[in-house]
Amino acid sequence: MRVLIRGAGVAGLTAARALVARGAEVDVSEHASGFAGAASWYAGGMLAPWCERESAEEAVLIRGTGAADWWEAALPAGSVHRNGTLVVAPPRDSAELRRFASRTSGFRWIGAEEIEALEPALAGRFREALFFPEEAHLDPRLALSTLRQGLEAQGVVFSGVMDEGRFDLTVDCTGAAGIGEIKGLRGVRGEMLYLHTGEVTLSRPVRLLHPRIPLYIVPRGGGLFMCGATMIESDDAGPITARSLMELLNAAYALHPSFAEARLVETGTGVRPAFADNLPRVIRRENTIAVNGLYRHGFLLSPALAEEVAALAFDDRLYESPLPNPSPPGGGAKQPLRSSATFRLASDEKAHGEAK
Ligand SMILES: Cc1cc2nc3c(=O)[nH]c(=O)nc-3n(C[C@H](O)[C@H](O)[C@H](O)COP(=O)(O)OP(=O)(O)OC[C@H]3O[C@@H](n4cnc5c(N)ncnc54)[C@H](O)[C@@H]3O)c2cc1C
Repeated sequence: MRVLIRGAGVAGLTAARALVARGAEVDVSEHASGFAGAASWYAGGMLAPWCERESAEEAVLIRGTGAADWWEAALPAGSVHRNGTLVVAPPRDSAELRRFASRTSGFRWIGAEEIEALEPALAGRFREALFFPEEAHLDPRLALSTLRQGLEAQGVVFSGVMDEGRFDLTVDCTGAAGIGEIKGLRGVRGEMLYLHTGEVTLSRPVRLLHPRIPLYIVPRGGGLFMCGATMIESDDAGPITARSLMELLNAAYALHPSFAEARLVETGTGVRPAFADNLPRVIRRENTIAVNGLYRHGFLLSPALAEEVAALAFDDRLYESPLPNPSPPGGGAKQPLRSSATFRLASDEKAHGEAK
C-alpha cells in the first residue's frame, strides 16, 4: 500500500511510523521548511493524562495512558522522562489546588518536606502540592526530529510537493490548516517562551495554578525551561503579545523568583487545532483519512490515533488496538471500529456530513 501523509507535525510523523511498521510504503508532504509551520514545535511535551483530566473528557485519560510507552519505544533511551508532574498553588490560591484535585485522579497530596525532596529548588515555597507520579514528559523538538530521521532512514521521502495520484491512500494531518476545510475545526492560540537560567533546577513539569493565569514549566535540561502556555480562542499564529509575555513571566517569577534573572531565549506561538468538544477525530472519506483536532494533546494522543489510522488503512472494518482497549469490558482483541474507538471515528457516511 502506498500512502501519502500530508503534514509532518506530531500527527503526521506518528501516523507515518505506525504505517511503516505495518509495511506501508509512505511518503510525507510538508509545505513548511523544517518544523516552523507546526504547532507541535511549540508544545510542552507533557504526557499528562491525569492532570489533563481536569478539563478534558475521560477518553483523553484512557487513550493517553499508553503514550509514554509508545514514545519510549520510538525514541532513544532516556528521551522520555518518567518523573511525574507536580501541581502547586500559592497559599492564597489553595482553593484552586482543591478544585484541581476534585477533578482529577492518580495523584497524592504531599507536604512541604516531600516537595523539597522532589524539587529542592522549590524548598520552602509551597506548603502543599499534588504529585502525579505516573506522568511523563519529553522534548517535542527532539521527538519530532528523531521520528523524521528514523523515517528517512527507512526510505520515507519528505518533500514539499507530491503527485497525489501515485498513492492508494492519503492521510491528512495538516492541523490548523484544516480550519475552514473541516467543519467545526477551530484554532486555540498557544503562546509560550523559553527561559534559560543556571539558578533553578527542576526534574519534572511543574504546574502553578492560578484562577486567571495557570502556568506550567517544563525542564529541558541544561538550564533551559519551556514556559506555557496561553489558551486563546483564535487561529492567529502571530508573535506573542506583550500582555501574554508579561503574564507568563509574572507566573514564572511567582513559581521561583530566580526566573526574573533568566534569559528569555525564545518566544513562540502555535495554533492548536480543536473541535467543539476538544476531542480529536479520525475521519475517513473514500481514500483519505483525516486526523485532526488534537487540541492540547498532540503528543499525548497521537500514538493512539496513529495506531488507529494504521488499523483503518489496512482494514476498514476491523480494528485491533495495541493500547489498553477503551471499549466496554469483555470485548475481544478484534472489535468493530465504531465500538472500539473512544474518539469520534466517523464512518464514510458520517464523514461526508462532517467534512465540508
Ligand atoms: C504552546 C503549546 C503547548 C502544547 N503543549 C502540549 C503538551 O505539553 N502535550 C501535548 O500532548 N500537546 C501539547 N500541545 C498540543 C500539540 O502541540 C498539538 O495538539 C499538536 O501539535 C497538533 O499536531 P498536528 O500534527 O495535528 O498539527 P501541527 O503540529 O500543526 O502539524 C501540521 C503540519 O502540517 C503542515 N501543513 C499544513 N498544510 C499543509 C499542506 N497543505 N501540505 C503539507 N503540509 C501542510 C504544517 O506546516 C505542519 O507542519 C501544545 C500546543 C501548544 C501550541
